[in-house]
Amino acid sequence: MAKKNDHTDHCILCGRTDAEVPFLLQGMDGFICSDCARLAAQYVDEIEKKGSASQAAPALGKAPKPQEIKDYLDQYVIGQDRAKKVLSVAVYNHYKRISHNLVDKPDDGVELEKSNILLVGPTGTGKTLLARTIAKMLDVPFTIVDATVLTEAGYVGEDVESILTRLLQEADFDLAKAERGIVFIDEIDKIARKSDNPSITRDVSGEGVQQALLKLLEGSIVNVPPKGGRKHPEQEFIHVNTQNILFICGGAFEGIERHIALRKNTRIIGFNAEEKERINADNLLEYVDAMDLRAYGLIPEIVGRLPVITYLDQLDRDSLKRILTEPKNALLRQYEKLFEMDGMRLDIEPAVLDLIVDTSIKNKLGARGLRSICEKLMADAMFDAPSSRKKTFKLTLDYARQKLEQ
Ligand code: ADP
Repeated sequence: MAKKNDHTDHCILCGRTDAEVPFLLQGMDGFICSDCARLAAQYVDEIEKKGSASQAAPALGKAPKPQEIKDYLDQYVIGQDRAKKVLSVAVYNHYKRISHNLVDKPDDGVELEKSNILLVGPTGTGKTLLARTIAKMLDVPFTIVDATVLTEAGYVGEDVESILTRLLQEADFDLAKAERGIVFIDEIDKIARKSDNPSITRDVSGEGVQQALLKLLEGSIVNVPPKGGRKHPEQEFIHVNTQNILFICGGAFEGIERHIALRKNTRIIGFNAEEKERINADNLLEYVDAMDLRAYGLIPEIVGRLPVITYLDQLDRDSLKRILTEPKNALLRQYEKLFEMDGMRLDIEPAVLDLIVDTSIKNKLGARGLRSICEKLMADAMFDAPSSRKKTFKLTLDYARQKLEQ
């Protein structure tokens, strides 16, 4: 009830008297002004909204099954079957975890642990694409960070917390959403310890960053500066719980085959020669495991927080060719669309596809090189198309060769 009173009555929250506020509401032991009441109501609303959002974990019923996740990935990513399967199961289990730990909260003492993922494979084989496609399918905030720009707090570079700032930005600062996001940390191999012996070298670039990352990967409450950049004491922080954030790390781990070969051989000698036969020396990566990662220079704690390890194959000629045309947003489909928007049909001679693939292989660029080669081939035609009356642009082998030689 509203009450006007003599000037000694004041709001117990802001201290203003009834002459200074629109009106005072009377309680048992004092008054509260209408301004504070309004603010309090807003605050209660916000807390309630936040509370219900953070409880609203995806129901397991809605979680896509591993086969569905893989089918989706197949539409965008060529090959890499093993990695797709492992990822699909890991993501499915991630949903189960959230559902079990947050929604059901059973009293059976079983706490399902986080299953962050490590993708090992040469550059340009689809590691980022896999992570990005998963995020698109799940419709969760997704961010990519390059491990090489991260530094230990206090050094020039980005603090690891900046990863979460970006995730928050992707989630439009909806904390509950960000706390279920996916982070892809690229080039994790570049922060490997340079020496296998921690007591001799404690290098800043490597081990310090790994230690800092650990905090995020293992699932804890991290103080995140909302605007990113360096932390400073007066700044207000957002407290982000990383427990349900899925971290997918990727790295080429160049040279790790040496460690794998070493491990495999020593184990095989002394057992039987038959097993040795079965080892595919051309693709040692498929045997990569935690021990090799430690030997490569990841600290044991980080390796322990990346329990799901899988590998990606080097893309062969055939896969590169398929990448040009098959995925839903295949490169050549994108160009077709661009020409179509100018009222022109793009007609590519089949031999041009081989030329593109061969050039990319020659330049040792793999799938990453395909786009720049296509740009070279199409640039002039795309310049002319909007002002041309032609209905078709025929990309012949001769024309393509000529463009690539320029
Ligand atoms: P990585 O992260 O392994 O270095 P990316 O995922 O960034 O490689 O790949 C670079 C680009 O090459 C992608 O944007 C995509 O166009 C193409 N690409 C690479 N691998 C594949 C693949 N397996 N299937 C389809 N496209 C691929």
